[in-house]
Amino acid sequence: MARTSSSDAERAAIRTVATLMAASARTAPKTRGVDTTQTMIVEGEDIELLAAAMDEAANTKPEYLAPAFRRDAQNVRGSECVVLIGVSGVPKKPEQPLDCGACGFKTCKGLLNARLQEGKDFFGPLCVFASLDLGVALGSAVKIAGDLNIDNRIMYTLGAAATKLRWLEADIVHGIPLSTTGKNPYFDRG
Ligand code: SF4
Repeated sequence: MARTSSSDAERAAIRTVATLMAASARTAPKTRGVDTTQTMIVEGEDIELLAAAMDEAANTKPEYLAPAFRRDAQNVRGSECVVLIGVSGVPKKPEQPLDCGACGFKTCKGLLNARLQEGKDFFGPLCVFASLDLGVALGSAVKIAGDLNIDNRIMYTLGAAATKLRWLEADIVHGIPLSTTGKNPYFDRG
């Protein structure tokens, strides 16, 4: 008789959902039809590397931010899997620039000339359309997780640490930890 324990079944479910989330981020609509999205699934010992980077980042934060970084780091340690999604902030099709001005520069070239500066958490400045792509990709990914009842949460703090680790070729990354427990660990955290 073949038997699968609940913990093994849940671990397999999370892994499957993480792969579907990565696919969903890829197929999400992209501005100007140009895709700079990168994804990564993090599991096992590498989860601790992410959590440790978040704790390290917490030590550089003001009092009003540090507790959130430490709290989220503990959440990440307790997660089975993390999905990272990031984008490049470079404007699309620079040979056919939109020059829309939404980023604070009058032209796309102006933004390009200002890149690449390292902020406390991310690299910039970013084209607004890259930020839109990231938001849509994140929304598509967590919709999959939500539809399949895998607990999840989009974390800026996790993304900030992942961005600085440079595991993705992306200027801004956000992270989504995944879990299956009787109580969602990412909300009502006190
Ligand atoms: S947001 Fe900035 S870089 Fe992006 S299209 Fe508009 S002007 Fe160009």
